[in-house]
Amino acid sequence: IKKIGVLTSGGDAPGMNAAIRSVVRTCAYHSIQCMGIYRGFEGMIEGDIIEMGPRAVKNIVNKGGTILKSARSMEFKTPEGRKKAYEHLKNFGIDALVIIGGDGSFTGGLVFNSEFGFPVMGIPGTIDNDIFGTMYTLGYDTALNTVVEVIDKIRDTANSHNRLFFVEVMGRDAGHIALNAGIGAGAEEILIPEENLGLDRLLESLKKSKASGKSSSIVVVSEGDKIGKNVFELRDYVEENMPEYDVRVSVLGHMQRGGSPSCFDRVLASRLGVKAVESLLEGKTNYMVGLIADKIELTPLEQAVKGKSKIDEELLRVSDIMST
Ligand code: ATP
Repeated sequence: IKKIGVLTSGGDAPGMNAAIRSVVRTCAYHSIQCMGIYRGFEGMIEGDIIEMGPRAVKNIVNKGGTILKSARSMEFKTPEGRKKAYEHLKNFGIDALVIIGGDGSFTGGLVFNSEFGFPVMGIPGTIDNDIFGTMYTLGYDTALNTVVEVIDKIRDTANSHNRLFFVEVMGRDAGHIALNAGIGAGAEEILIPEENLGLDRLLESLKKSKASGKSSSIVVVSEGDKIGKNVFELRDYVEENMPEYDVRVSVLGHMQRGGSPSCFDRVLASRLGVKAVESLLEGKTNYMVGLIADKIELTPLEQAVKGKSKIDEELLRVSDIMST
């Protein structure tokens, strides 16, 4: 392998830049070329590709987002699109690919490999932490810190007005952000996609905490919460059933994806980038690099895509006890 291409795909996450930097510099360290591909698979199809030397990635370790931009590409889901992408890679002399993204991007990489035998290596980059084969995905730690910081601020105003706040955080299918940030920020209740607490239990818990003397409360809700009501419907329901509460909603939205990556995410990105490039150089393909028990390990991409990242039961219990 003489030339590695790197791209970021799917939803962006803090730490992606640090991972690009690591891939580029590991290539330079091993005296091979690195090419940056813009806008994920879109840039591969369009041949939007540049050479990246070690100085091209200066001053980005601390930057959120991705300097290579990200995109979702419908065309890459077609054989014609992938053929175009393959031709461009060939013309640029690229002979292996590092894909920084989520499970959709890894699926794209697997399909590409099966068609053209092209070596691919995945780096898990998504704030949701919903990928099997790594304890942490890039951007997750930063997102948790962002969410906790914001909920702290919401708590100040909730306290001052004796209000109940529903705070919606990202996580359509995974409640990792809600559960961890909820515990970290001292939430009263945490509603996640993996567990259906039901409306009765929510009301009961809120009534109990009111009776115990709490005057304000924070309920953290994942986007994909199983109760099947969005935060605004939850607000209406609680207002109807507990008129004594003044209820407000705060949807945190895309700010959770932004910001300077935490030190943890920068270090993780650096480690994952080194392992991704060195694994390709060892002739490995179709793996994802990830953090398992404090070591950077390889998991077959197929498992990373199919496997389920689980919610820690112990955390659920801790969260229950903390809201006593
Ligand atoms: P996030 O976790 O942020 O959603 P992701 O990598 O899962 O990130 P997706 O939008 O699911 O994001 O996938 C990114 C891109 O991967 C898609 O836009 C598409 O180009 C490619 N892709 C996904 N699934 C396939 C597939 N079955 N075949 C070919 N390409 C695919």
